[in-house]
Amino acid sequence: MQVKAKKYLGQHFLTDLNVAKRIADTVDVSAERNVLEIGPGMGVLTQFLLNKDKNLQVIEIDGESVDYLKQNFKTELADRIIFDDFLKFDIGELFNGEKFALIGNYPYNISSQIFFKVLDNKERIPFVSGMIQKEVAKRLASGPGNKDYGILSVLLQAYYDIEYLFTVPPGVFAPPPKVDSAVIIMKRNGVKELPCNEKLFKTVVKTAFNQRRKTLRNSLKPMMSEGFSTTDAIWNKRPEQLSVADFINLTLLFQ
Ligand code: SAH
Repeated sequence: MQVKAKKYLGQHFLTDLNVAKRIADTVDVSAERNVLEIGPGMGVLTQFLLNKDKNLQVIEIDGESVDYLKQNFKTELADRIIFDDFLKFDIGELFNGEKFALIGNYPYNISSQIFFKVLDNKERIPFVSGMIQKEVAKRLASGPGNKDYGILSVLLQAYYDIEYLFTVPPGVFAPPPKVDSAVIIMKRNGVKELPCNEKLFKTVVKTAFNQRRKTLRNSLKPMMSEGFSTTDAIWNKRPEQLSVADFINLTLLFQ
């Protein structure tokens, strides 16, 4: 018995074992012993992760998948399964509060939300790898001057080094998704704290990109107090032209 793919849960099961192994092998690069897999489904990645010398837990929202895993993996996996929604799950006590690596062939319908949760827990999650839509992968990994560069690129790159590894075509999934997929690796960089107010930094980045065709002088106007000077050339730029460091400098001007 196979799990029936549910669209609303973003279920596209990987059928190519070579690709599954290559994705699972990305955790070899991580020094973390604790590994959390999001959305194991029928366990195509999980089977390879179990062979590694890691302390594995998996979190799955779909009861049918959880039953499948319990029946097909039995004792090795049963007490490592968390039956819950990753977005709602409180990771506070997970792995006794220790750091962990995150991996998955992620549910594409919530991939951005997963990365925002990673950001909120960046001190606990020094390493993230796995598969997402190619379009999102390119966004995460691209730098200034690129049309894919956006809010998540800047916010994540402030704290993570992000690498686009390889592209995966729709044909290796059942059912096939409408888009190409890609595998990425994110490693926490050395930045402990930004040299500016981090909440304000987020607001500046989001406000600028929410009107990305405008110059910063115009898009950030609502944040400026009276007499705020915008004579510097940077105010003529658009958000996609700014590096993480530029956004930090802009934020400092609002503090
Ligand atoms: N890893 C499997 C399944 C990928 S499909 C494979 O490669 O074949 C995405 C998986 O994420 C599904 O199993 C789906 O049920 C699960 N999922 C979707 N939303 C989730 C959530 N909020 N929390 C945890 N798992 C979720």
